[in-house]
Order: sequence, then structure tokens, then C-alpha cells
Amino acid sequence: MFYEVYSSVVFFLFGLVVGSFDNVAIYRIPEGKSLWAPRSFCPQCGTTIAWYDNVPLVSYIVLRGRCRHCAKHIPVRYPLVELISGSLWLAVFAKAGFTWSIELLPNLFLVTILIIVSGIDLQKQIIPNKVIVPSIPIALACMGIVALVRGDYHVITDSLIGFAVGAVPLGILALALPRGMGMGDAKLAALTGIILGWRSEIIALFAGFFLGAIVGVLLMSLGKKGRKSRIPFGPFLSAGAIIALFWGPSLWDLYVGLF
Ligand SMILES: [Zn+2]
Repeated sequence: MFYEVYSSVVFFLFGLVVGSFDNVAIYRIPEGKSLWAPRSFCPQCGTTIAWYDNVPLVSYIVLRGRCRHCAKHIPVRYPLVELISGSLWLAVFAKAGFTWSIELLPNLFLVTILIIVSGIDLQKQIIPNKVIVPSIPIALACMGIVALVRGDYHVITDSLIGFAVGAVPLGILALALPRGMGMGDAKLAALTGIILGWRSEIIALFAGFFLGAIVGVLLMSLGKKGRKSRIPFGPFLSAGAIIALFWGPSLWDLYVGLF
């Protein structure tokens, strides 16, 4: 019991730190800036942030959401991204049965990329190739390692079919409805398909479209978005993939049970 609690805390804290890196990636990648230099600075006044003001989550609370130098508000998305990252890292560890398992490798990679991609898509309405293209061979390599460690080569077939299940329908949609969906969405679905496998990828797509439809209708009825305005789809695909990551197999059984 002690071990489970102790390692859960470690995973949560590590997820917070990765979340703080995700924030840097979300802010800097679309601007074409380096991830490693310069050190973090306040986007409002440009002052370099001291290490003690850059502790994930804690600093935001201590500083009450304001920059120490210019007292301007720090956007709430910074602590939010850290909290989501910490929670997802903990959830992935819990799903692995609170123990070291090789599935942690692809699953932690997946949740991290989904946070970065969703953050950038929400801010800039793009899914940058710089993130998504290298992620695809990395995901394949992770699944290759899982297959090797498990001695189960079905993992590879499942990943390759998952890739196609994600890439093909969204690729066709992106070509047919370029205003509604982009090739970035198809690449994102391909990536999630590799790690989730084809059954869970089907669940991820259904869940993503379902969530996107609900939020789209809500935003339109609240008058926040017109029928023609573009709502980024990446965050919905990502949410669908998270749902499928945690509940995919049980939702799949439910779905298959309908027939
Ligand atoms: Zn400032």
C-alpha cells in the first residue's frame, strides 16, 4: 500500500513537471522558437522567471496567478495544463495497476503529445507537423518495444491497422471537407490509432465526433460560434483518445454487444 501511494505521488509530480514543459511547447512551437533556450519568461513583461517562481502548480498558487514583476495575470491555462498532465500521468499509472509495465511507455507518450497538440490547436487552430510527424515513428517504435517485451507480435498488427483506421476516414474527410477538418486531424488520428489499436481507435473516433458535435451545438446555440466558424477538432479527437485509452475495451464490448 505504501509503495502504491508513494509511486502514485511520484507519477503525479513527474506529470506536473512534464506539464510545465508542455506549456513551453504549446507557447513556443507555433512561434518557431526553441524549446530549450531562453529560459521561461513572463510573456507580458519579458522578465526571466526565477526557478522558485516556476514550480509547477505551486508557484501559480503562491503568486495568486500574477507575475511577481509586472503583476499581470498569468493565464489560467498554465496551471490547468500542469494539473491535467499530472492527473493523466497518475491515471495512466493507475491503469497499469500501480506497477511498472511496458505499456506505460506508449501511454505516457500519448497523453503528453495529446496535451501539446490540443493546446496548440486551441490557441492557433493548427496541428503542427513539427509535433505530429515525428510522433508517428516514435509511437511505432514504442509499440515495437511493447511487442518485443510481451513477445506478442499481434501488438504490431493491431497498431498498423489502428493507424489506417485513424488515418483513412479522417484523411478522406479532410480532402472532402477542407473547411471542417485538416490533414493534421488525420495524422493525429493515425497517431492515436497506433497506440490504442484498431478497436479502441474506433471508440476514440466515435467519442471524438460525439463530443465535438455536442460542444459545437452548444457553442452555436450560445451564439459564441457561427455555423461557418471553425472549431478546432484536435482537442475532441484527443479527448476521444483519452476516453478510449481508459475505457476502450469495455466500450468496445458494449458496442459489439449491441449487434
Ligand atoms: Zn510579468
